[in-house]
Amino acid sequence: MNHSKEYTEYIKSKKWLATAKAIKELRGYVCARCGKASWSLDAHHLTYERLGRELSSDIELVCSTCHPSADIERAKETQRRNEEKRYDAAYETYVLKKYGDDPRALGDPAILEEFHEWLQSRDY
Ligand SMILES: [Zn+2]
Repeated sequence: MNHSKEYTEYIKSKKWLATAKAIKELRGYVCARCGKASWSLDAHHLTYERLGRELSSDIELVCSTCHPSADIERAKETQRRNEEKRYDAAYETYVLKKYGDDPRALGDPAILEEFHEWLQSRDY
C-alpha cells in the first residue's frame, strides 16, 4: 500500500500514538486474531475512512504474525466498497438520465431490473 504524506505524518503523531496506546490498554494487549498477548501489538486500521478521527471499532489490535492477513483483507474490502460505489453511481446516473430527478424511481424494483439488463447488454 502506498501511503500518503498525510498518513505517514499522522501515524507518527502524538495523537495517534496516544489513541493506539489507549486502545491497547483497554483491550489488554491481546491480538484480536490469535489471542496472543504481546507488548508489541500493532493497531491496525480496518478502514482509513475516518483517519485522524477513528472510532474504536476502526482499530484492530494484531500481532506481527496476524498483521499481513489483516492488511490483505482491508485491501479486498476497500476494493469491494469501491466497486459498490461505482455500481451505485452508475445506477443513479442511469435513473437520472432515463427517468429524471424523481427519488421514487431509484427504489423501483422494475427499474432496477431494467438497469441490470442494460448492464449485461453492455458487458459491465
Ligand atoms: Zn495474532
